[in-house]
Amino acid sequence: MAGSFDGKVAIVTGASSGIGLATARLLAELGAAVVLAARRGDDIAEHAEAIRAAGGQASHIRTDVSDSADVQAMVDHAVETFGRLDIAVNNAGIEGHISMLTDMPDDNWDRVTGINLRGNFLCLKYEARAMLKAGNGGAIVNVGSVNSFLGSPGATAYAASKHGQLGLTTSASAELAPQGIRVNIVCPGLVKTPMHQRIRDTIGDAAIDQGMITRVHQHRAGEPEEIARAIAFLCSDEASYITGATLTPDGGLMLTT
Ligand code: NAD
Repeated sequence: MAGSFDGKVAIVTGASSGIGLATARLLAELGAAVVLAARRGDDIAEHAEAIRAAGGQASHIRTDVSDSADVQAMVDHAVETFGRLDIAVNNAGIEGHISMLTDMPDDNWDRVTGINLRGNFLCLKYEARAMLKAGNGGAIVNVGSVNSFLGSPGATAYAASKHGQLGLTTSASAELAPQGIRVNIVCPGLVKTPMHQRIRDTIGDAAIDQGMITRVHQHRAGEPEEIARAIAFLCSDEASYITGATLTPDGGLMLTT
């Protein structure tokens, strides 16, 4: 795959840590100019600098994906900085407050769906507008979860928002396919990221190791880089006839009940 993104410009949201950071680094290694977007401006500034120091091309912009003006500014930044937009990875997401539905604060619902679902919608909207305007097609990958298919007791808003991303993906892919823009979704299982660690800290290692990892047929959590490679494949020209599809890098979590 080396060099397969030469001349391409990519946005990665949620690029300050975990899956987003691994994806930004991989796309840059493969030749793309990458815009790192996330809420934590200092972190993405450092990560963009590290990519440049390693010989890649990168820029950053502090972005709250639930804010329409921020998302529009993020897309404008990519086009103004690197001259075009070919690839977008809509990865930013939060797990929110872990509690039973009956105890869930109303504002947790708004925050989680606001970032995971409304945020994904806003990114698609402004990214697709820029791609349509340029007329060169494009590739967009949304990051869902196995909770795009499975319920998640204790994280209802998260599961609902992740289910919603499937509908966004299929609808957007059908709307944009005639213009050469592909939209796919990657739905990871358990991945060793700061989000995974926060959930471990909240529900305990035993609940993860005995309750969840045992259901993963590879008997381990994934590395962020393993998810980044699945995302990069769908962003690449190797996936030129794939749109509206779901890829589930989950170590076999969803194979059996
Ligand atoms: P993470 O917490 O390490 O990273 C999340 C990123 O999203 C960070 O960069 C954070 O700053 C950013 N972010 C959060 N809210 C934002 C906002 N409003 N605007 C812009 N950026 C924002 O988590 P991760 O595990 O790398 O998660 C990345 C994606 O992968 C999420 O969509 C998550 O739902 C999904 N996912 C993770 C796992 C897992 O086990 N880690 C499993 C399935 C799906």
